[in-house]
Amino acid sequence: MSGEFGLINRFFKPLSGPEGVGLVDDCAYLPAPGGGLVVSTDMLVAGRHFNGNARPDLIAQKALLSNISDVISSGGAPHVYWLSLALPEACQSSAWLSSFAEGLAEVQHLSGIRLAGGDTTSAEHLAIGITALGKTDRPVSRRGANPGDVLALTGTIGGPAFGLDVEQGRRPETGLEKACISLYQPEVPIGFHLPLARFATAALDVSDGLLGDAQHLARASCVGLDIDASAIPFSSEIQPLIEADPSSLFQALTGGDDYQVLFTCKPGTVKIIREAWPQGRVTVIGSVVGGEGAAPVRLLDQGGENMLAPGHPAFDGIDRTQLGFSHVTNPRK
Ligand code: ADP
Ligand code: MG
Repeated sequence: MSGEFGLINRFFKPLSGPEGVGLVDDCAYLPAPGGGLVVSTDMLVAGRHFNGNARPDLIAQKALLSNISDVISSGGAPHVYWLSLALPEACQSSAWLSSFAEGLAEVQHLSGIRLAGGDTTSAEHLAIGITALGKTDRPVSRRGANPGDVLALTGTIGGPAFGLDVEQGRRPETGLEKACISLYQPEVPIGFHLPLARFATAALDVSDGLLGDAQHLARASCVGLDIDASAIPFSSEIQPLIEADPSSLFQALTGGDDYQVLFTCKPGTVKIIREAWPQGRVTVIGSVVGGEGAAPVRLLDQGGENMLAPGHPAFDGIDRTQLGFSHVTNPRK
């Protein structure tokens, strides 16, 4: 929805209390004796967030994993969730529902989360609302990054953006089979909440594309972020496409649905974080710098030039307004 954040700020922020953390974080935080809760809610609608004709187990996995991603990026251990369903007639058969439930069961098994309740109604189009709770005594927000911290990312990104291209008929599937799967089964960094809660200074999950989400973190923390373009870990199947075509790089950085964690931490803690999460990959992709100037996020090429600045050949001819960076100058250079 264009202007989503503007309307939240105008109409809903005045209604929020301290638990809502200014309605800028992935989760609300409810402190409690002996450990608090982080809470996220997300609604997925057929035709907008997924193809309504996709396999029901895959739709279920996408819906639940995208919520778990918010919980993990806030430092929470996935605990319980509520499931609200608006079901068109085609989704009320036993076959559809049993496949949908199987998809949920698989994610429950993977993450440790359990169903606690929900609501069911019939409707013209399929919509899935999930509210997920995680346990933590140290929630991680988007607001704690400090100049001198490093910027790091779990896993790899870009696959889902290309999977969407295949699903919508803009690219052939050959060579992008893994990307297609990642559109519905994102590789959410299960277990990463533990080192994140202990060592991260700020974090969020990459749901709207790396550049846009980096901008959210930078603005919430009032800092600048310098991202080293050559350090960004892209999925192996899309790496060759990116090398061949700058518009593919743009797509991989703005496409969304990656569900990896982008976080900041003190440089000395990267090694401990990696040791505490040996099952996954953590890549340092940049650094936190002073926040002065109009461009909170810079994407640096190998010569140190900002690829987001007007006139840089990287995204020449590409509609820059999609970046939310159309105003970008080069204030820190
Ligand atoms: P995410 O992409 O992490 O799920 P969103 O972009 O959906 O986060 O939301 C950003 C922030 O705005 C969150 O803190 C969320 O709780 C809040 N928010 C979104 N929609 C509403 C709404 N209708 N009422 C109140 N808060 C909202
Ligand atoms: Mg999020």
